[in-house]
Amino acid sequence: MKAKIRDSYWMIKEEICSTAKEMMRLGLVVGSAGNISCRVPDKEELFITPSQVDYQLIQPHQIINLDFEGKQLDGEWTPSSERIMHSEIYLARNDVNSIIHTHSRYASVLSIIGKKIPPLMEEMINILGGGIEIAKFSQVGSKELGFNAVESLDFRKAVLLQNHGVLACGKNLFDALRVAQVVEENAEIYFHILQVGEENIIDLPESAVEFQQMIFKSLNRIPRKKKKKQE
Ligand code: 13P
Repeated sequence: MKAKIRDSYWMIKEEICSTAKEMMRLGLVVGSAGNISCRVPDKEELFITPSQVDYQLIQPHQIINLDFEGKQLDGEWTPSSERIMHSEIYLARNDVNSIIHTHSRYASVLSIIGKKIPPLMEEMINILGGGIEIAKFSQVGSKELGFNAVESLDFRKAVLLQNHGVLACGKNLFDALRVAQVVEENAEIYFHILQVGEENIIDLPESAVEFQQMIFKSLNRIPRKKKKKQE
């Protein structure tokens, strides 16, 4: 491999590690919960965090390179158990270059009680693409979890995984981390709204919704057509 490419791959691995530490510092995960990946530029491959490695200790050489079929191309560590879900999203969404899966608290609560989050504030529309749906439950590591996530994500950048946590997508790691934070912030807001009663919600004016949708569209490329769900 040419030195220039090797250096750029190493930089991506370093960036994944620093994002993992930041995700932990922000309280979006504890220990080794969740996972992070990045698309390898111009290839049907990804870099992904190793399974069960504490983010306080994670190092770039532990980040694994896989193809979208799950074949391990480098690294000696076991890749995240959620590698198939990450690959399915990259295959379905060519606007997504980074994915962060967290177990952030309020979002996890809502995923467990089955409360999808309506578009409460303008930032949900211009950053996430709208409300946050809940993808049907499926076993950790299953292909079906990936299909369910892709289906419920649609064109948006975040989805809750039933009884599991959050899936946040972005153009890059910085963007995906912002998405994960905005999800958790709005999950917390919605959780408090549920205490005073949903009947108190004042909907965003339609004109504001349309304006924010326009901003979201202008900031995000239109995704490629989704792959059909296999029987
Ligand atoms: P990994 O450590 O295998 O990535 O699993 C963590 C997780 O959150 C599974 O959903």
